[in-house]
Parts: sequence; C-alpha cells; structure tokens
Amino acid sequence: MSLDIIVIGSGIGGLTAGALLARYGKRVLVCESHAIAGGAAHSFSRQGFHFDSGPSFYCGLTPGSGLNPLQQVLEVLGESLQAVPYDPMGHYHFPEGTFPVYSNAERYRQAVAEITPQGARELEQFEKRLLPLYESLRGIPTIALRADWQMIPVILGQYLPSVLKLLPHLRILQGSVGDVMDREVRDPWVRRLIDLECFLLSGLKAHGTIAPEVAFMLWERSRAGVEYPIGGSGAIVDALVRGLKRWGGELKLNAHVEQILIQSSKVKGVKLKNGEVINTPVVISNATLWDTYTKLLRPEDLPPSYRQQSLETPAVDSFMHLHLGIRAEGLENLTGHHVVVHHASKDITEPGNTCMISIPSVWDANLAPGGHHVVHAYTLEPYEGWRRDEGYEERKKERSQSLFCALERVIPDIRDRFVLELIGTPLTHAYYLRRYQGTYGPAIAAGKGIFPGTQTPISGLYRVGDSTMPGIGVPAVAASGILCANTLVPPKETAKLLKI
Ligand SMILES: Cc1cc2nc3c(=O)[nH]c(=O)nc-3n(C[C@H](O)[C@H](O)[C@H](O)COP(=O)(O)OP(=O)(O)OC[C@H]3O[C@@H](n4cnc5c(N)ncnc54)[C@H](O)[C@@H]3O)c2cc1C
Repeated sequence: MSLDIIVIGSGIGGLTAGALLARYGKRVLVCESHAIAGGAAHSFSRQGFHFDSGPSFYCGLTPGSGLNPLQQVLEVLGESLQAVPYDPMGHYHFPEGTFPVYSNAERYRQAVAEITPQGARELEQFEKRLLPLYESLRGIPTIALRADWQMIPVILGQYLPSVLKLLPHLRILQGSVGDVMDREVRDPWVRRLIDLECFLLSGLKAHGTIAPEVAFMLWERSRAGVEYPIGGSGAIVDALVRGLKRWGGELKLNAHVEQILIQSSKVKGVKLKNGEVINTPVVISNATLWDTYTKLLRPEDLPPSYRQQSLETPAVDSFMHLHLGIRAEGLENLTGHHVVVHHASKDITEPGNTCMISIPSVWDANLAPGGHHVVHAYTLEPYEGWRRDEGYEERKKERSQSLFCALERVIPDIRDRFVLELIGTPLTHAYYLRRYQGTYGPAIAAGKGIFPGTQTPISGLYRVGDSTMPGIGVPAVAASGILCANTLVPPKETAKLLKI
C-alpha cells in the first residue's frame, strides 16, 4: 500500500496527529520503537499491578466536560473514555503542614483563607487577572486551529468575537505568570503555592511559565473538574489507537525509525532499524527536537544555523521514579494525588525536594490485585553522571530515598507494605521513552523564546509533541497533533469535519 504520511512515535502527540489525519482520509502509518504505544503516557503491568509510566492528572476527559483538545480529537474520531471525577484533587505537603487542593476555585480559595486570609484575597485578584484570557481562549476550540497563514481567515471568519475579547489582554497573553503574580500577590505562602502549581505544570516556576497556560489550568480544572481515566493513562492511548485504526490508519510496534530519508531538502521516506525502507512524501516526527535533529537526520539535512539554534534549546531535567505495589489494609481513606515539598530552605525545583505521588487504584481498584494499591512517585533528577556501572544499583537506592521519605508523609509505614518495588532512573526514562537525556521537555521560559511550530525547514517534515507549540503536558501535545494534522489539509476539510 502506498502511504501519505508516516508518523514516527506513538506518544499522545503522534497518535493525535496520525488518527486525525486518518480521519481526514489520509493513509497513515505510525511507527513506534517500543513494544507498547503511548510514549510518556504508556501503561505497563507487572505481577497484576497496572502502572502509569507518567501522567495521571487530567481535566475534561469525558464528552462535554471541558475544552481538553484530547477530548475534542476523541470526539471527531468517534471514541470516548470513561473517567472518575474527584475533589480534592490532591494534597500539598509542605514542611509546615498539609494543604488540601480543590479544583473548585471557591473551595480552593477557602482552604487558602484558613492559612492566610490576606493571601486568599490576593489569590482571588490574581485569578481574576487570568480569567479574561481563559474566557477569550475558550471561545476558540483547538480542533479548529492550524499552524499556517490560512488560520487567519479561519479565526477572523469564525471566532472574531473571542479574538476581540482577547485584544485588551495581549500584554498578559504574552507575559509570564510571574508578572501577574508580582502585580497582585505579596503573601509569601501564596507566592510559593503559585510557583509550585506552575512547576507541576511546566517544569518551571511562575516567572518561567506563560500566563495562558496557567489561566487555562486554573479555570478549566474549576469548570470541568479533575478526572482519572478508568484503566489508567493506557486507556487514553488505547482510545487514540482505536480511533487511528477505525479510520484506516496503522500502528507498527517494535518499529524503530533509524533515519528520515531526505533528498534535495525534501522527505523521501524513512529507514527502520531492521533495514526496511518505507517511502512517503510526509513524515511527522513525535521524537523530541534533539532526537529528531541529531539521531534521525544527518547534520547536512538542516541549515546549520537552524540546527545549531534548535539544539541549544535548554532541557528540563529527567526523573527518578518509584513504581510500587503495596498492601492496602488500613488505608481506606487514602487519596490519590500528593505533592511533598521536603525542605523550605531549598528551591522547589531542586532535584529530590519536590516529589509527586499518584495512587490511581483509589479511583480504579482494578489497577491492583484485591487488597492492594498501585503507587507511582517521581521527582526531578539530572541525567548527567548516570551510568550503568558497578555503582548503579547503590546510586539508585540512594537517589530514590527522597521518594520513600515523601511517601512516608502520606503512608507512614510504607516501607513495611510493598510487595513489588521498581526504581527507575534517568537512564530508564531515556531508554523506555526514547527521549534525549530522559528530559521532561524543553525549558523555554516565558519571555525567553517560544516553542517551535510544527513546520521544519525540510519540505514534507513536520514535528509534534512536547518540544513543539504549545508545549508540555497531555492536552498541549494533543493540541500540537491537531495543529499539525489541520495544517496538512485544506481549511474546508476541517470545516466539513467540524460542520462549521
Ligand atoms: C513523570 C511524568 C508525569 C507527567 N504527568 C503529567 C500529568 O499528570 N498530566 C499531563 O497532562 N502531563 C503529564 N506529563 C507530561 C506528558 O506526559 C507529556 O508531555 C506527553 O505525554 C508527551 O507526549 P509526546 O507526544 O510529546 O511524546 P512522547 O510521550 O515522548 O512519545 C514519543 C514517542 O516516540 C517514540 N519514538 C522516539 N523515537 C523514535 C524512533 N526513532 N522510532 C520510533 N519511535 C520513536 C517513543 O518511543 C515514544 O513512544 C508527565 C510526564 C512525565 C514524564
């Protein structure tokens, strides 16, 4: 069969682009290097425990619940997910005490007011500043957008009122959350809270995070609520794979792409690790920008200055991971999401100081054998210095201690409970996700640059995923897949699909 498009990688970005293009009638093949689809969002099983390898925090997964681009794609594919709503959406454990985090904006502020009444008033002002961004952006559904000049007539023709609403807020739109925080919030406790929420979202604190991202997160979680997909993050991947196949696309697992074949600055096809060559005029790379530009292309395929500038993009660190199966007796009131900040004297971004914990079997008991829970804890960890040498096992134990200590804040006798223990390092993360240095994604701070778009200087080569616009996170990479897919079809095809 001759192909229209090959997608390299089945992360959420690659699957979204591939499935949407199949929906448009294109002949699509997704080549995934790993034996399991999903990239950072894949699920895996050991001894009856079903683990999320990465994301577990989601808003607006079910039809009509919100503005999540992923849900918008599932809808046009004719697919859906089952999800469990919950609130409080988590607990933040600071050195001085534990704070329940509600997705409902009113309850969130009330909980802050119990700690700092003045801080709660400032937080309300801060949220009010961000609200107009959300109100204007929510009028423009991501599924209608594209990433070329043809977006201008689409936006002006269909969404002019929302654009006009945005105009008075252009300064905030382009600025950082830190700028808004500096104007509205003096209270140190609330400033740390905002920094932490930004860090959890973008890997950077408030001054590095763009304002629309946080406006969207705060108001979307309040409006749509927080949900966990039944079956874990793998259920999201499965729904996208079903959508891809339903519309005639194909997924090839264990199909590592070794090279993108370029001739006269045009894509000719790809070469797989097993030597197979597949011809196609369009390739979409879901590998990171560093992997695409260093491993999949030859240096001479790209203009030297473009290549150099792209490869200078700073990267967020990688991770230490703990995946545990634990006995559940006596943990009946356990909640599913926790963030532990160990030391007030250290920066929240310092590796090991902020630990994220997710226990998804509290929402979906089928993820663990009866009487057990499944636990995933992770914290930032630099890639540099990690080697599989004779000291590797010892170092793994030592560097995972911050995660065990964080878990003890939530389940004091955790060390007596586990029946399965898997420790992952930046090397594990880089290997299983095929990601450059196991990075979380580009560290492009607000005001210091913008995420690159889907196009590349090579005709027929496009990129999607968390090193393209709009950035890191499942909704964002789904948006990148939409932007790429829509750019590859005429606007009237999108209008037909959306009946607008
Ligand atoms: C620990 C952790 C927790 C997170 N928590 C959340 C959360 O709660 N909520 C949220 O929204 N986001 C979260 N994120 C972020 C989110 O998971 C990612 O931003 C997103 O899943 C990345 O998707 P992607 O499409 O960019 O690519 P990836 O997931 O990186 O997928 C790329 C795919 O390409 C494949 N590939 C690479 N090279 C090749 C090749 N040469 N040939 C074939 N295949 C190749 C890889 O194997 C991989 O499957 C989390 C991330 C991590 C790591």
